[in-house]
Amino acid sequence: MSHSIDDYKKKRDFGKTPEPSPGEAGARGDEPVFVVHRHDASRLHYDLRLEMEGVLRSWAVPKGFSYDPADKHLAIRTEDHPLEYEHFSGVIPPGQYGAGTMTIWDRGVYEVVLADSGPEAVASGELKVILRGRKLRGEWHLVKTKQGPRDWLLFKSKDRYAGTPRSSALGVDLEGATRSAMPDALEPMTPAGTTEAFSDPDWLFEMGFAGRRAMLAKDGEVVTVRGVRAAVAELQEAALTLRAERALLDGVLVIPDDAGRPSQALLDARLAGENDRPLVFYAFDALYFDEFDLRPLPLVDRKAALRAMLPPTPALLFVDHVPGSGEELVTAVEAAGLPSVIAKRADSPYVEGASDSWREIPVTPAEDAAGMRVGEALTKIRPSRDRSRVKYTNLEKVYWPAEGFTKGDLIAYYERVADLIVLYLRDRPLHMNRYPDGIEGKNFYQKNVRDLIPEWVETVPVKEDGEESVQYMMCNEPDTVRLLANLGSIDFHPWMSRRGSLDAPDYAVIDLDPKEAPFTHVIEIARKTGEILHEVGLRPLLKTSGASGLHIHIPLAEGYTYEQARMFCEAVARVVARDLSDIATVERVIGKRAGKVYVDFGQNRRGQTIVPPYVVRPVRGATVSTPLAWSELEEDLHPSQFTIQTVPPRIDAKGDLFEPLLTDRQDLMDAIDRLQAMMYD
Ligand code: MN
Repeated sequence: MSHSIDDYKKKRDFGKTPEPSPGEAGARGDEPVFVVHRHDASRLHYDLRLEMEGVLRSWAVPKGFSYDPADKHLAIRTEDHPLEYEHFSGVIPPGQYGAGTMTIWDRGVYEVVLADSGPEAVASGELKVILRGRKLRGEWHLVKTKQGPRDWLLFKSKDRYAGTPRSSALGVDLEGATRSAMPDALEPMTPAGTTEAFSDPDWLFEMGFAGRRAMLAKDGEVVTVRGVRAAVAELQEAALTLRAERALLDGVLVIPDDAGRPSQALLDARLAGENDRPLVFYAFDALYFDEFDLRPLPLVDRKAALRAMLPPTPALLFVDHVPGSGEELVTAVEAAGLPSVIAKRADSPYVEGASDSWREIPVTPAEDAAGMRVGEALTKIRPSRDRSRVKYTNLEKVYWPAEGFTKGDLIAYYERVADLIVLYLRDRPLHMNRYPDGIEGKNFYQKNVRDLIPEWVETVPVKEDGEESVQYMMCNEPDTVRLLANLGSIDFHPWMSRRGSLDAPDYAVIDLDPKEAPFTHVIEIARKTGEILHEVGLRPLLKTSGASGLHIHIPLAEGYTYEQARMFCEAVARVVARDLSDIATVERVIGKRAGKVYVDFGQNRRGQTIVPPYVVRPVRGATVSTPLAWSELEEDLHPSQFTIQTVPPRIDAKGDLFEPLLTDRQDLMDAIDRLQAMMYD
């Protein structure tokens, strides 16, 4: 199949099309260029063009680009285009080849990885490139398929930029950003003066914090916190996971007290080396990204870029804002006991020093300010905001009558953990478990959600036992968590496997279910199970189920089946039940368990669900399924300690103990051999 520049010439009448005819290319830079055209032709598509051997190798991509590595998009190889095409945009007249509007959608330089040269990689049918454009960043993968001579697949490689199915790195138009080196010593932007609370659609309003103004700079593997001399290892570590090669963020260093409120005294002590309480960097502005100076961009775009860059870590938090209404935020900030609100002109560029585009609105904390944490205060104002696609309703409805917790309290909790919990739900078919009248009312499970949910929620068709396929929802973004909470789905139940590999679980699970047995027995059995798993060379994870039991997870390397996971867990369960036969059993029939704890390995089945970490359970106390360190398995441990009130500060203090579930995927082969030896001990 020919794709040559001669084909390009043959297809076009250069008297009629404004497209360039191949000519002498001018002097080239060191790095090869890429360009993506948005081609609004008979069918809209995107043309990816890579400079190679004096021409632009081209692929037409009907579905465009997605940062979700699971989205594998068809890319049809088309004829080489002349280098002059890099700068072409215009209207190709009707009747001409490719008639329609051609605009430059992105442009930049690129680099071939893992191959000696681009042409060699193309010839071999597999090409990996790192793109450096304004929308496209990081590594992308092109693989030739066997479907047709021109068919390739294009998809995002798993790197720091990979994630949600968005089409640009930051979701922000970087046209106004300038390419330049990262600025070093910068004087921070400050409010020119103070003012009364006001409302104005051209302004946005942020919470002011008690803390230390600082700038966080990341340059490759080097992270510095400008303006602070003390060691801040936790921030440096967190900043390495930013979705950027280089970044400069403006914000404030804060240490929350035990009630979750910023404490200047604790911060001063930490910076003087007198305590080791974890720091939080509340970021409110992004001044630099990768190779772009963002300062000329409007504030709202810089904040959108900042939001996209921040990883889900408790050490780096986004300072959200309220558009237009200062009074509304002042009321919430008073209740939260914070010192001020900062008003900022939404379209203002970032400038050094005092600026009229920023104003401080001092706030006198309410007498009874103790009651509310920062996150809750923000949630109170969120229903009136237009950014989220979910409008909260019936916030005052009581969901936990004994404790008096409302639907609003449930939502406030999920607001706090939405970014985190999405990590454990992404791409998994999901059941809802709705309690529209609270935990003492009727509940119903729902899995076929076709007509129940808005269009923006992603779904996946799943075939079950020859039945017609069921359209399951997936929770792939924080707004879907908000939607679930607003639908009264107190907890929700994801599969253990993901879209694209529904027959291969990502983890194996042993469920310790006590029924009538005392929790101290569960603790002892969990300890034993953990010992065995560690002994056979695994690194299992532990969490409360949120109800009465404990869950033990083993993250699995790719390619194990549910049956293999179940057989392995059964072998472990049998060793445990043998060694602790007075308190543990693998007896399936409840009546025959004799008050012993059931060591359940049967959950490892296709279509079975297990609650994710950080989900709230519809039981007394509003308890949360909470990851634990193995060292926390002490006699005084009880699931009731972990609630919608205690879990957010625990996450702030301890980080996400379940993170290895996503990163530490383990091989079972050696463990199976060792376990077999143990069984015949
Ligand atoms: Mn085209």
